Parts: sequence; C-alpha cells; structure tokens
Amino acid sequence: MYVNGDYLPEDRATVSVFDRGFLFADAVYEVTSVLDGRLLDFAGHAARLERSLNELGMPMPMDRDALLDVHRRLVDENGIDEGLVYLQVTRGAADRDFAYPDADTPQTVVLFTQAKPGLADNPKAREGIAVVTIPDQRWGRRDIKTVQLLYPSMGKMAAKAEGADDAWMVEDGAVTEGTSNNAYIVRGDTIITRQLGHKILHGITRKAVLRLAREAQMKVEERAFTVDEARGADEAFVTSASSFVMPVVRIDGQPIGDGRPGRVATRLREIYLDEARHTAI
Ligand code: PMP
Repeated sequence: MYVNGDYLPEDRATVSVFDRGFLFADAVYEVTSVLDGRLLDFAGHAARLERSLNELGMPMPMDRDALLDVHRRLVDENGIDEGLVYLQVTRGAADRDFAYPDADTPQTVVLFTQAKPGLADNPKAREGIAVVTIPDQRWGRRDIKTVQLLYPSMGKMAAKAEGADDAWMVEDGAVTEGTSNNAYIVRGDTIITRQLGHKILHGITRKAVLRLAREAQMKVEERAFTVDEARGADEAFVTSASSFVMPVVRIDGQPIGDGRPGRVATRLREIYLDEARHTAI
C-alpha cells in the first residue's frame, strides 16, 4: 500500500492515533474500480476528490498525474486484474482540537488495492439484490465523500438482519440513495433517479450511466421518488463504482415487477461495462 510517499507491505503501514481522520472523520475518500488491470473513470474520481477536498478547505495532496501514477503502480505491484483502489486523504495528525490545525499540517494520504475477482461477471447481477428502506439520518452534505460511514454501516447491518442485501435511505417520504450506491426506478421506458444536490453523493457511475441511457434514446427524469412509487415500479436498480449497475428485485420484501432483474437495468449494465472496458486507462 501507499502511505505518505512510501510503498509498504500492509503490515508495515501505520498512521498516527492523532490523525484527524481517526479522531474526527476529517477525511475524504474515493474508490476506483479496476478491470483488465486498468482504471475505470479515473478522471471522474480525481475530479470528485478535488471537489470534496475543496468543500472541506483542503488542497489536493498531489496533482492528478501523480495520483494516477500511484494508482497504476499499486495496481501493477499487486497484480490486480479485477478489483478496487481505495484512496483516503485526511487533514493530518494534530493535537486533538475541534478547530482545524494550521494549514501547513501535512495531510495523510493512504491508498491500497483490493482484488475482487468476478467484479464484472457478478452472479448477483443475474439474480438482483433485495433492499429494505430505513430513514436517512446522515448529515446534510452527502455530496462530500467523507469517511463518516457509520450510519451507512448501520443500514447495511439492518438490511442483513432482515435477510436483505442493502438499504435504501428515505427522507421526507422520498428515497435519497442506497448505503453505498445511487438508487433508480424504471416506469415504462423512463428511468427515474434523484436529482443532484447536497442530499446525495454525485456518483461517478450515475453520471456515466445517465449519459449512456440518454445516448441510447432512453428517457431520464432526475427527480425524487417515493417508496410507494418504487414499490409499484417496473424495475429498480442501483449504481456504484464497485457494483456498476445492479438490479434491485425486492423492496421491503415485496417483489419489484416480476421479481427478476429488469430489461433496462440488464441492458444498462452491459452498455456500461462495455464502455468502461474500452475507456479504462
Ligand atoms: N452514494 C453513496 C452514499 C456512495 O457511498 C456511493 C459509492 N461510494 C455512491 C452513491 C456511488 O458513487 P460512485 O458511482 O461514484 O461509486
């Protein structure tokens, strides 16, 4: 793994217990997928990283080319064919204080890889996943990709306890997003997903999938939808860098459509993966 300029084996990698990422979740992260040993939409992830840092008053720890080099070296040295690169940048280590430390405090930068054979040819995509709904109790700036992931973790556990795979979070009667993915329904030939803003993460996969859907002449509506609307939908699915396009076949135990992965979700997954492989770097 990579820690502040050094490439180290996992068991030799350390960060300070005073790191603000540890003490305050004062940190942002990115997860970039790897297919065929190449990075998917690196430019999108680098741009979102810069935006998240900027929203929290932190600079980019290195320029995008240097960041790409670190990603590539880790993929190569760890022999990753299919998998993920995780990146985290924190405000660094300092005496514990709610106020930020001096701006010259060195940031902590950590990257590591995870091999995930079968990421693209995922059997789950042929079956679809089940979701439960839970209230969205996260903070109000979900567009910043911080490491405050406790509530989404609790949501995953709530889903597991009910025999489901994931949770969709609901606020003011409308679905915001999944614990680690963007949420969509399909009605007739229209794809519906929540509009961008502070209430959801601006998914890199969401952006690509909506562009590809429009290019394929599918109709897209970016608006909030209710749980009732989702229950009555023809299809549902989620998107994320690590699941690509994943059909959702049950919500709160009730089948969506015929309870099988839908035509639109299946097609979008194919189109997305095809383009992703061709544009990976
Ligand atoms: N929403 C949330 C809350 C997430 O954690 C993620 C994945 N990090 C996404 C959406 C999907 O974003 P992306 O497509 O960039 O992985």
